[in-house]
Amino acid sequence: MSETHSPETWQSRAKAAVWDTRPFINGRRASVTGAAAVSSAVEAARNSFLDERWSGLPPAARREVLLSLAARIDANAEELGLGDSLDMGKPISAAIIEAHIAAHFVRWFAEAADKLHDGSTVPGGRECFELHLRRPRGVVAAITPWNYPVINAPLKFAPALAVGNSVVLKPSELSLRSASRLVELALEAGVPEGVLNFLPGDGATGDLLARHTDVDMVAFTGSTATGRALMRSVGDSSLKPLQLECGGKSPEIVFADAGTMGVDAIASSILAGSLANQGQLCVARTRILVHRSLYDALLESMVESCRRIEPGDSLDPATRFGPLASAAQFNKVNRYIEEGISAGARLVLDGRRDGMGYGSAPTIFDRVPLASSIAREEIFGPVLCIFGFDEDDEALALANDGHYGLAATVWTRDLERAHLFTSRLRAGKVKIMGSPHPTMGVGVAHESEPNGQSGFGVEGGLAGLHTYTRLQAVEFSFGRPRQPRS
Ligand code: ADP
Repeated sequence: MSETHSPETWQSRAKAAVWDTRPFINGRRASVTGAAAVSSAVEAARNSFLDERWSGLPPAARREVLLSLAARIDANAEELGLGDSLDMGKPISAAIIEAHIAAHFVRWFAEAADKLHDGSTVPGGRECFELHLRRPRGVVAAITPWNYPVINAPLKFAPALAVGNSVVLKPSELSLRSASRLVELALEAGVPEGVLNFLPGDGATGDLLARHTDVDMVAFTGSTATGRALMRSVGDSSLKPLQLECGGKSPEIVFADAGTMGVDAIASSILAGSLANQGQLCVARTRILVHRSLYDALLESMVESCRRIEPGDSLDPATRFGPLASAAQFNKVNRYIEEGISAGARLVLDGRRDGMGYGSAPTIFDRVPLASSIAREEIFGPVLCIFGFDEDDEALALANDGHYGLAATVWTRDLERAHLFTSRLRAGKVKIMGSPHPTMGVGVAHESEPNGQSGFGVEGGLAGLHTYTRLQAVEFSFGRPRQPRS
């Protein structure tokens, strides 16, 4: 594993590695770019769907191919992890673990491929009944971001492939390496040529893809601004269905009764979730709402832990907290911190660093004006805002204040409060009491639908497989056609 390699070994592997990130279309590298690459990737996917080389296979056969892909991802986890680490600065140890998580996701959807049998039958008398069947949608465009490259891609293409679609994968222009390799591995595993295509390119490429009339569905993870643009693109073109997982500004709500767990334990769970990937994750719970009885102690515990965190070298296997992904992201985070200060929030811990690449340590604000940008906008970096509350209703109003609706964590041992509060929370994914450990949890079975400006459409779980199918009603009638009554 990564821990057995020294930073020097990783440096030399990074220098020696050769990455091919040209389009991968119809099972081979192509030299086309721009609009020609989009057309050719979509055409390959469309043809492969129409001749049923994949969609026509028995689901169990698709399962076996995807299981083989999962095994190959595990076997190539170091290379895939290195790709992400070089692309967006992810610490190498985390990047390798994420490659194994990606394999787990592919395995999960592979196993589900032949187990979806939930259609209903509607009786219509002796001579008639109706079946409700799940059909693949056709050509799925998967447009993914740079924050978890090796996971984001299979989170979309694995369920899409499991139910028989063909896919054009367009990852972020900032993180091409692992996605490009995953598509090669899929071919080696037996995914037929043309069924999973890799299309490098920026937002303009994504836009062309989303507007293409031979694309039957767009599955997207990224910013809310791009989500809006995609709604326009599909509206202007062929009304294809969209699945959008966009930004978030999620709350972590700590009630007084949770104090029996110990504030240090709560603080460490909050930090594990909100600072994962240097805070560059859509479900980061960065608005921390704390009952006033625990406020001072929790703030102190968080500050103490955060003081010990400094961004390290991505290729050092001992690094747990790395730099931000890019200059743009680094500047954006610094700009938000400056806006927070100008808005009058109290800077309890300043994580801004100079001369450490794009490294930024955790920043904590309190006494944050509710209208300020740091209280309302997704920062996508290690910047936390802490707020106090006295009453449950006040906590609810704070939690739901804003236009996102992605995730939340509720810390309470009171079952009734957890249930009532959760039913009023605008959040697709809610954790009660956090996770005892960041790697524990239900993973891909976590099927959920965001709301508000965090998007729509289910990702994950068996319901997430349905996202990539269309429901077809087929009515069977056996009687002789009758003359209509006059
Ligand atoms: P982030 O800020 O996380 O990079 P983006 O929404 O900019 O989020 O990017 C997510 C993905 O969407 C990337 O693959 C990017 O190339 C793509 N993208 C950006 N703009 C558009 C657009 N107008 N239409 C389609 N895809 C786009």
